[in-house]
Order: sequence, then structure tokens, then C-alpha cells
Amino acid sequence: MLPSWVVMVLNTTQFPDPHATCANCEACCCRLEVMLITETGVPDYFIARDEWGGESMAQRDDGWCAALDRKTMMCTIYEIRPLVCRIFEMGSYECLVERAENFL
Ligand code: SF4
Ligand code: SF4
Repeated sequence: MLPSWVVMVLNTTQFPDPHATCANCEACCCRLEVMLITETGVPDYFIARDEWGGESMAQRDDGWCAALDRKTMMCTIYEIRPLVCRIFEMGSYECLVERAENFL
């Protein structure tokens, strides 16, 4: 969460923003909760289950998704990543919000 004194200013005139790319990001969106709503083949050891059987990507103590390579900051299961990750568009409003929260 942002401190209350931080004001977020986003340029809403151009989406997707061509300057916001994963190459100049620190996988900000891979700290979000990722619900598994379709079967894409995510290995069981990357899946967290709640008490009602809901499935999401497991997160490590540092807050990032368990499937993220901490050295390269790239997804280790890119070809079989969850649907939520597939539709999260680089340079979109949601992307810019996550980047802004990490001061990028
Ligand atoms: S927040 Fe946006 S730029 Fe950063 S890794 Fe996610 S999609 Fe890529
Ligand atoms: S599955 Fe891959 S793209 Fe999705 S949050 Fe985890 S590391 Fe990021």
C-alpha cells in the first residue's frame, strides 16, 4: 500500500504506455494475488489453496510469486502461466498503477 501522502499521477492519454515495459520493471505485477481460474498446467508446488479450496499462485516471504526467478525477475512458467497473468497487459492502466506503487 502507498503511504497516505503519496499522490499518484498517471498519464491517462495513452494506453498502453510504450515506455512501461517489463524490461524496465521489477516484476511489480508478480506481487499481486493471482487466482487460478482456469487450468493451464501450473505445477502443484506453485499452488496455494485456501480453506474453501480456492487456488492461487503461492507467494514467498518476499511477496513475489513463487514461480518468479529472483535473479532474472522473469516467470519460470511463462508458457503455462495462469490466465490472470496472460491478460494483465504491459503498459495498461493496471500495469502503471503497480509500477507507480513501486516508484517506477
Ligand atoms: S507491472 Fe507491467 S511492466 Fe511490470 S512486469 Fe508487470 S506487466 Fe510488465
Ligand atoms: S505465474 Fe509468472 S507471470 Fe504470473 S505472477 Fe507468477 S511469475 Fe508472474
